[in-house]
Amino acid sequence: MRKIGLIGGMSWESSKLYYEILNREVKKRCGGLHSAEVILVSVDFAPIEACLSKRDWQGVAARLIPAAQQLEAAGAEAILLCTNTMHKLAPDIMASVSIPFFHIIDVLGEALASDGRQTSGLLGTAATIQNETYQKMLKDKYNVTTILPTAEETERMDRIIFDELCVGVVSADAKRHYLDIIQNLARRGADSIIMGCTEITLLISQDDLSLPLYDTTELHARYAATWSLSDSS
Ligand code: GLU
Repeated sequence: MRKIGLIGGMSWESSKLYYEILNREVKKRCGGLHSAEVILVSVDFAPIEACLSKRDWQGVAARLIPAAQQLEAAGAEAILLCTNTMHKLAPDIMASVSIPFFHIIDVLGEALASDGRQTSGLLGTAATIQNETYQKMLKDKYNVTTILPTAEETERMDRIIFDELCVGVVSADAKRHYLDIIQNLARRGADSIIMGCTEITLLISQDDLSLPLYDTTELHARYAATWSLSDSS
């Protein structure tokens, strides 16, 4: 089994889901007492979020690059960055280490493309919705067009992520807001919905809607579990 390195803490509410999914998958496939080999570097989210809110990407990179390097030095064989938003810095992080980095948009894009999805509604933080690279990568590499929430919906979605989900608050009101946004995206032609933020898993599940749902937390962690077990040693 190969060792997976996690850059977590953004927020820890979603990092714990990664840990759970990795272990659940290894147990499912190997049985018995088998569990995932994981190295976690968990950052303090408050100063990072303070940089993010000012769109000070250099400030964020100054904290995430050392985390990636710490994982490599500790023996991790691949890296998962447990947040969509911070994938804006994926090129910088990849350039700073020599182990594989599993890009969340590649894992997502492969799942969408293999199911033949063409027009997907994107949920996520305001920074993710504003990140043109996210949409461009899905379009250019996987031929998936994204439909974005309105500015007002994005603002509401972002507040729920940072003020509620990232601090472990899950409310019926927040769920209603998300389901309204999803309904609007469906009305505008979405054939599927991307949960492009690793905390939305806490709020919404496939049982809540009829459109196919692509959960980046689940897809990303499952991909890593499969990779980790694909080495027979
Ligand atoms: N975990 C979130 C994401 O997947 C948001 C928190 C962050 O800004 O990293 O985008």
